[in-house]
Amino acid sequence: MSAPAVTRTTSTSTTATSIASSTPTAAASTATVAAAGPTTDFYDVFADVAGADRAAWDRARTLADDAFPDVNEAWEKAEYPLHLVRRMGELDLLADGVPVPGGSAPLSPLAAGLVNMEVARIDGSLATVTAVQGGLTMRSLHLLGSPEQQEEWLGPLARAEKLGAFGLTEPAHGSDAVGLETSAVRSGDGWVLNGQKRWIGNGSVGDMTIIWARNEEGKVNGFVVPQDAPGYAAETITGKVSLRGIPQALITLTDVWVPDAARLPHAHSFRDVSRVLMATRAGIAWAALGHATACYEAALAHAGTRVQFGRPLASYQLVQDRLATMLGSLVTMQLHCRRIADLDTAGRLRPEQASMAKVQCTRAARTVAADARDLLGGSGILLENHVIRHLADLEALHTYEGTDSVQSLIIGRSITGVGAFA
Ligand code: FAD
Repeated sequence: MSAPAVTRTTSTSTTATSIASSTPTAAASTATVAAAGPTTDFYDVFADVAGADRAAWDRARTLADDAFPDVNEAWEKAEYPLHLVRRMGELDLLADGVPVPGGSAPLSPLAAGLVNMEVARIDGSLATVTAVQGGLTMRSLHLLGSPEQQEEWLGPLARAEKLGAFGLTEPAHGSDAVGLETSAVRSGDGWVLNGQKRWIGNGSVGDMTIIWARNEEGKVNGFVVPQDAPGYAAETITGKVSLRGIPQALITLTDVWVPDAARLPHAHSFRDVSRVLMATRAGIAWAALGHATACYEAALAHAGTRVQFGRPLASYQLVQDRLATMLGSLVTMQLHCRRIADLDTAGRLRPEQASMAKVQCTRAARTVAADARDLLGGSGILLENHVIRHLADLEALHTYEGTDSVQSLIIGRSITGVGAFA
């Protein structure tokens, strides 16, 4: 990628632009091999990004200066770096293209994707904040909420003055979230909610959660639930070894009462939830690209400086083959992401296309990250080298927003016309 360089604090990290053209020097006598050749944007997939899209991309890159000193410690200690989340709000990196009343112009799908990519290239937990706060919570309010709900929440959420959560998954309903059992029963001029939600990002540390619940007619409705509502109990899930820098919660709702004004008026069934999920799935594809880019860059830099058997790793044919394969995967991911952004901009993105991008990119990123980890040898398992964190975080991307297999089932249904989910 050819946007301005960012500064990183580790020896093995580099930037896209720092992989600048220079003459490859694989001579046996050289102690190091200069990182040579073109940038990670091998096909110039993003070379035409300009104007507001470019500005958003550049803004996301500046987050690196604030974040790099802190993300490893946050991950290691499983602490939520709220100061970085606030910084993301200041930089307008949380809205994921959702329009904000009285706010700046919404990001295009391309710009929102580039932001997702760039933040994930820095840190997966921070990228997941954008996915949860903007991608899921704000998008639910934008697509399905009332003007009053939008006015009350979208600005504060975009600016990170408030933290929001999206409560769909339940202990007994993950991939089959369509079978959710949380109940919403009419009570006077409001609703009483009962049930449990699992894996809810920001669910124990935020201000509000959108709770998806089934009404007495069996239809799925959404409700804006304050996290301090009586009967809302959330405990942070511990023992995670992926995305340790953002907490997820197990939420128990016991006779939680909310007024009718808390119901999302345009959410009538699970189909409406799916509209939100489709848009966010595209963002996960972009995030996977960001993770993979970071890993490739670290591997390339390491291969250029690590000397074994008297020569830099980068001078060995096997290593070059692996780097070429990794770069090929990046190119494939870039093309997927660019294409779905263009389809989205044209209003033509179909759910199965978002699923295709999500599954292909997370699969490819997992392989690139594992390969990079291996190329760094023992150093690859050290947090300070910024690869193992990406590798571990990609495990969550592989699963959330619909697992790898579930995306394939969505694509399979569109190919064959036959649903094979059950
Ligand atoms: P399961 O559904 O039990 O799946 C287990 C395995 O079975 C998977 O490999 C799956 O692909 C496979 N499988 C399931 N059904 C089929 C089938 N029919 N055919 C073939 N294979 C099948 N949810 C939220 O609502 N809000 C959040 O903010 C949120 N954040 C998350 C953050 C993290 C870190 C994680 C891990 C999850 C988060 N989730 C969130 C939940 C996430 O969306 C679910 O974990 C996901 O949908 C999978 O559900 P599950 O974990 O119950 O796995």
